[in-house]
Amino acid sequence: MSGASTPAPGRLETVRRFVNTLDIESGSDALTTPSELSAWLTAAGLASGARAGADDLARAVAVREALREALAANHDRAPIPAAALAVLNDAAARARLTATLTPSDGWRPRPSAGGVDGALGGLLALVGDAMADGTWARLKVCVDDTCRWAFYDESRARSGRWCSMQVCGNRAKQRAWRGRRAESTS
Ligand SMILES: [Zn+2]
Repeated sequence: MSGASTPAPGRLETVRRFVNTLDIESGSDALTTPSELSAWLTAAGLASGARAGADDLARAVAVREALREALAANHDRAPIPAAALAVLNDAAARARLTATLTPSDGWRPRPSAGGVDGALGGLLALVGDAMADGTWARLKVCVDDTCRWAFYDESRARSGRWCSMQVCGNRAKQRAWRGRRAESTS
């Protein structure tokens, strides 16, 4: 779904918006051409005029879907699936993410590469920052398989499952209700 869902704090919102460039439910994808990718990365402040090619687009989409897998794993505090981990580590290597001493936040990953590789590395650096400050574990994707929209879980128990209680949460409840009703009448 592409309606209201809670934004993530600070620059982690950029990661959430990147994952949500694909709206699975409506099938609309904001990253279908290299120039759309270039424009998105520049608007997000990750690249200054980096010109993407077809290979860059394929890699960016792979990173996006690997991030989606990682966010799905956040529900159960499960490990990031191996295939997603491989994609993210490959992108980090291409970006030459390097531990860099920052003025107030200690050592943080920062990309040394330029271009689209560096821009994707900048995105992964935001993931590293969020892991360090504890906000990463709250960034999730909706458990509804037809949705998988990224949202920030603000619930106290960190138990949020849907991007929106009103839409996907209700849909799941209605399904459960119909299931119970079918059982009791059979
Ligand atoms: Zn949803």
